[in-house]
Amino acid sequence: MSLNESICLELERLERTKTFKTETIIESEQGAVVRVAGKDVIMLGSNNYLGLASHPRIKEAAIRGIREYGYGVSSVRFLCGTLTVHRQLEEKIAGFLGTEDSILYSSCFAANEGFFASIVNEKLGLELYRDVIYSDRLNHASIIDGTRLCRVEVVHRKVYEHADVNDLRRMLEEDRRFSYRFGFIATDGVFSMEGDLAPLPALIEAAAASGHLLFVDDSHAVGVAGRTGRGTPEQLGVHGKVDVLSGTLGKAMGGAAGGYIAGPKDLLAFLRQKSRPYTFSNSLPPSIVVAAIEAFTMLEQDPSLVEQLHSNTKYFRKHIRQLGFRILEGDHPIVPIMLGEASMAMEMSNSLLDEGVYIKGLWYPVVPKGEARLRAQISAALDEAAMDRALSAFEKVGRRIGAI
Ligand SMILES: *Cc1c(COP(=O)(O)O)cnc(C)c1O
Repeated sequence: MSLNESICLELERLERTKTFKTETIIESEQGAVVRVAGKDVIMLGSNNYLGLASHPRIKEAAIRGIREYGYGVSSVRFLCGTLTVHRQLEEKIAGFLGTEDSILYSSCFAANEGFFASIVNEKLGLELYRDVIYSDRLNHASIIDGTRLCRVEVVHRKVYEHADVNDLRRMLEEDRRFSYRFGFIATDGVFSMEGDLAPLPALIEAAAASGHLLFVDDSHAVGVAGRTGRGTPEQLGVHGKVDVLSGTLGKAMGGAAGGYIAGPKDLLAFLRQKSRPYTFSNSLPPSIVVAAIEAFTMLEQDPSLVEQLHSNTKYFRKHIRQLGFRILEGDHPIVPIMLGEASMAMEMSNSLLDEGVYIKGLWYPVVPKGEARLRAQISAALDEAAMDRALSAFEKVGRRIGAI
């Protein structure tokens, strides 16, 4: 069979099994309301948690970045791609998260890809060694790919059950016989399918007891979780106590692009030398860098956007429950609305779009069979009237298709 025949067969299989991902085209800027097929609809499906994607202060800052520093720098960081504002943003992120330093990447995907291999694949004076990485079963694809870039001869890759510290402790105990060189425990701070938080205090203890390094990808939490938006560690009372954090600038913090790793300064100095997506890929453009500085400054000065997000989340969770929908409990703006059958989730998301609400469904194999759901994501940009309109649409469609 030719390449083209093979890929067409696979595309047909995706269509048949209803796992083909379609892209809905948006004709306006990202915001509380967006235009789809000429019609305004309420956005409940973006990571624009703080509404910064189209916030006037962020747009102005991006334009200022272009005016002062141009469109791009045409270089990686160590040739001629480091501007004053790159270092300013790195210091800003470190200050916000309570770490010694941070290092920018073109995305969080690149940051996670660049982390593990840069350490694990280095002999660092040793001929023979073995490292170990323990990873939560539901970790983001970029962490999984990051660990896959480590040479198989020198790393044990292990997966513990989702958010299950007892399972992790059992593995750590069992593995003491290997006397590893370095060990890593890697987890998302917030998991995107359920909106649940990693058990950071217990993970911090397990990491300290085993001498391993705790790596937390807080992409869905910075600007979101914790009283002032400093993320999962703040919410769980362990701000400043996680060894290494990674995160994205592409969700709450402006929504454009960019990622970072934050942690101890020696480790980050080492990454600047060894981490391939940092060393061999272009530095972030000034528009994004200056806008991201503005986003962190806004949160430092005034947590009211974060407070608005938290109160909107409470409001939506309370009312969607009152309508009779089953949701996964929690306090994150990711609100999974459980529907069971994939067909119901599909029909519901299509009908909601007709009724003026943009929301996507998740079903097998993204989530387990029988746990199909709609995933609402709340934003500080929504006002109560918009949430009420969305809730009435949920009620109307839910009744009609028998979900409530
Ligand atoms: C979104 C996300 C990423 C990817 O971030 P980008 O900056 O878009 O590459 C990585 N990790 C987690 C946990 C995410 O949610």
